[in-house]
Order: sequence, then structure tokens, then C-alpha cells
Amino acid sequence: MSEAWVDLHCHSIASDGTFAPSDVVALAVRNGLSGLALTDHDTVAGVPEAAEAARKAGIDFLAGIEISCDVPKPATMHLLGYGVDPRSPILLDMTTRLIEGRNDRNPKIINRLNELGVTISMEELEAQANGGVIGRPHVAAILLRKGYVSSIKNAFDKYLAPGGAAYFDKERISPRQAIDMVRQSGGLPVLAHPSQLRTENDAQLDRTIKDLADLGLAGVEVIHSDNSEAMVAKYSALANRYGLLKTGGSDFHGTNKKDISLGTANGRRIPREFFDALVARLSSIRPML
Ligand code: AMP
Ligand code: FE
Ligand code: FE
Ligand code: ZN
Repeated sequence: MSEAWVDLHCHSIASDGTFAPSDVVALAVRNGLSGLALTDHDTVAGVPEAAEAARKAGIDFLAGIEISCDVPKPATMHLLGYGVDPRSPILLDMTTRLIEGRNDRNPKIINRLNELGVTISMEELEAQANGGVIGRPHVAAILLRKGYVSSIKNAFDKYLAPGGAAYFDKERISPRQAIDMVRQSGGLPVLAHPSQLRTENDAQLDRTIKDLADLGLAGVEVIHSDNSEAMVAKYSALANRYGLLKTGGSDFHGTNKKDISLGTANGRRIPREFFDALVARLSSIRPML
């Protein structure tokens, strides 16, 4: 039954995906989804187009965003914000600041690559991103096209990931700030792909999620392309323990992550009830809507 499935985590050309927002929606329809949230990195620029396309196509849509938070290495923490108001001044202040942080980093990456004998320019990078928020996958795509690397993954391993020859960090905001800003923009903060926290053991993971719940976290992404069955079960149990919503998504990036298809996360589909529970919680915090 097509009504049964959704995808709550995907990227468009507004950040580091390769499909236009309306094309992500068209693909969602083709893949039999009844609900979609667009979660581009650091921007809601793709949301109006996707919302309009979803309305026309007759599928349900939630505005979303994905924000990288400042946590000690080697952890990465990404926070999803669902149902944020794309016109919220607080949200727009935050995205402006995050994009400025990227704008500081991008020339450093390009300069270092040039020093290493890799021919790449800021103009090429801007052309690759085509107006979207620039991320390392855009650099990786150029390196691949020009034959400097054998795959996107190889570009990260060799140059762009921590430990790579042209790695630079970008400014991030704290988990507390990100949670507050998502809440103040009318949205629900959800911890993306918990495995990327790289916690050392289950007790540490449990404590981290409890701390985030105390800060106002609303949910945990339990289904994700990185997750095995055992991980889905573990994250679901944690969400239940702390009264958090469960969400799920593929983390579709178009051809930037060729092995991920919209609506499927490591062989699993994402149940419609995850979408409905988010919408129900949103209407409870915003009774006017
Ligand atoms: P940025 O937003 O510039 O920090 O880049 C982060 C994005 O790069 C992530 O959201 C992924 O889409 C992608 N990414 C990060 N690490 C890797 C990796 N090792 N291989 C492929 N893609 C990656
Ligand atoms: Fe990404
Ligand atoms: Fe992420
Ligand atoms: Zn993502």
C-alpha cells in the first residue's frame, strides 16, 4: 500500500543533493511515498518549491532542515528540524550564520587543493553548487569529474574528511543553540543518524540522548541508511525510554550518494505513522494551525 510509506530525510540542489526540490517530490511519488520532508543542510531555500510540488502531486509535506552541531571529535552531530517556519527570522539568522561559516571554509579547501597540485577554483565550486549551499560533496563531485579521485568516497578519504589532506572544519553551533533555534522557529528538533555520534558504548549513547532530551530534543531518527536492524531496535528503545518521537529517512542525496534511493533506508521503508506523529506533535505545540 503506497499510503504506508514516507521519507523524512533527503537533500536537494538547495544543498548537496543533485535533484531539484520538485524533482525530489516527483521521485517520492514514483517511489510510492505518501509523505516527504526535505531536510537540506543549513537552508530552507528548497522548501517552498517542494511544498508546492507536493501540494500539486497530492502528497503530504513537512518543511525541514539539517544542522551540523559542534561536538568533540570524532563525533558528528546533525540535528533535523521538522515543521520549522521557513520565514522565521530566528531560523534565517541561524542559516545566514551557518552559511557564512561555510563561506569562510570553502576558499581554504580550494587553496589547499591548489597547493597539492589539484586544479580547482572557487568559480568551479560555485558553478557546481549552482546557487545551493556549498558543501564538501560539491568539491568531491568536481574532483571525481576531473579524474583526481575514483569515487566520492575516495575524495572524502583522500582530501575532504577529517585526516584528509584538504580538511577544514566549519563554524558550528552548539546542540543547545540548534535545539533552541529549531524550537523558536516553530519546529521539532530530532537527532539525525545517531550512529554518527560514534559513542563508545551503549551507556554513553543513552546519556547523550538523555542530555539532548533535557535540552528539548523531540525525537530520534531510528531508521536511516546507516542502520542495521539491531541499530533500529536500539535507537527505538532509547526513543521510547525518553519519551521521544521516532523518525526515519533515507538521507537521499541524488547521484552524490548513488547507493541510496529515496524512500528506502538500508532495505527498510519508513512507516507513515512516523510522519503522522510529527504532524500531531507539531499541532499540539502550535494549536493555531
Ligand atoms: P559539509 O556539509 O560540507 O560539512 O559536508 C557534509 C556532507 O558530506 C554530509 O552531509 C554528507 O552528505 C557528505 N559526507 C560526509 N562524509 C562523507 C564521506 N566520508 N563520504 C561521502 N560523503 C560524505
Ligand atoms: Fe549531505
Ligand atoms: Fe547528516
Ligand atoms: Zn542528511
